[in-house]
Amino acid sequence: MLILMEANATPDQIQEVLALLEAAGLRCQVNPGPEALSIVAPNASRALKPDRIEPMAGVRRVVPITSPYKLASADALAGRTVVDVRGVRIGGDDLALVGGPCGVESREQLFTVARYVAEAGVKLLRAGAFKPRTSPYAFQGLGLEGLRLLEEVRAEFDLGIVTEATEVETFDAVEATADMVQIGARNMQNFALLRRAGRCRKPVLLKRGPSATLEEWLFAAEYVLGEGNRDVVLCERGIRTWADHARNTLDVSVVPAAKALTHLPVMVDPSHATGRRDLVLPCALAGVAAGADGLLVETHCHPEKALSDGPQALLPSDFLRLVAQARAIHEVLRAPSALGRWL
Ligand code: PEP
Ligand code: MN
Repeated sequence: MLILMEANATPDQIQEVLALLEAAGLRCQVNPGPEALSIVAPNASRALKPDRIEPMAGVRRVVPITSPYKLASADALAGRTVVDVRGVRIGGDDLALVGGPCGVESREQLFTVARYVAEAGVKLLRAGAFKPRTSPYAFQGLGLEGLRLLEEVRAEFDLGIVTEATEVETFDAVEATADMVQIGARNMQNFALLRRAGRCRKPVLLKRGPSATLEEWLFAAEYVLGEGNRDVVLCERGIRTWADHARNTLDVSVVPAAKALTHLPVMVDPSHATGRRDLVLPCALAGVAAGADGLLVETHCHPEKALSDGPQALLPSDFLRLVAQARAIHEVLRAPSALGRWL
């Protein structure tokens, strides 16, 4: 249930409501809100009747949250969540761009890519130190050495670092290095990992599983939110269909569909969605046009030598083109007057 407090509710009154919820064994989330504070208590109506809470001092109204995911639901929050990753706001008015190679391969590779990513004005660098690979024989990432290189590259280029946590055992090390922790598509329903991400003090980028429905994806987010981490960003990265012209199928329509159901930001990863360099730019632009809050794009200085995902990695010049065009599309949507008489 959603408990809306009066704008002038006192701290004591708020505390009394929280104490009642706690005594009933309920976990809740307190949202300051622009006008008044609200409290989301998932599944509270099982333990407490709304008419027990509604007459309490300082309470304006109690509203049931009808969707099955409570904390991720658009009903749970007035407005939208904006996630701040080292000064980059994801979910606000700006288009958040994240770029980088699939994996950290060497100091030289990482620094070369980071240099042109930073020169493009992109402030978040994504590269995996721990890689979730389908084949156990494929490059698994440099592990702790990769994290050390990511720390070096952040210091050198003043970039925020997005990197993946693949298992609970190495989560602490990833959390210590990352400015944002990615949970990969294959781990979208790894519930132990999701709970650990929920206890993490860094924002979480939650990829959609290759065969997950929107509801399953939102339940995965709910696992993270339920442990107290509110900084969750969803990322559509293509789903498995019968189409065989591309690695996956970019589900463009899930972007507005997700944004209608949740207050969480939604990004698009056109690289894993297509697996083909020539399809990345048009699909990135489609994602922005569909309302994505940001893009996650793979790029490599020498894609032909990449240890993972080379065929989908953009060359530096294509990466720069994508950044410019994605920003132009976003600008048109943000300020439609840019289209003049056509709108
Ligand atoms: C990746 O981001 O490099 C990756 C493996 O992505 P996904 O989990 O979407 O397959
Ligand atoms: Mn990759």
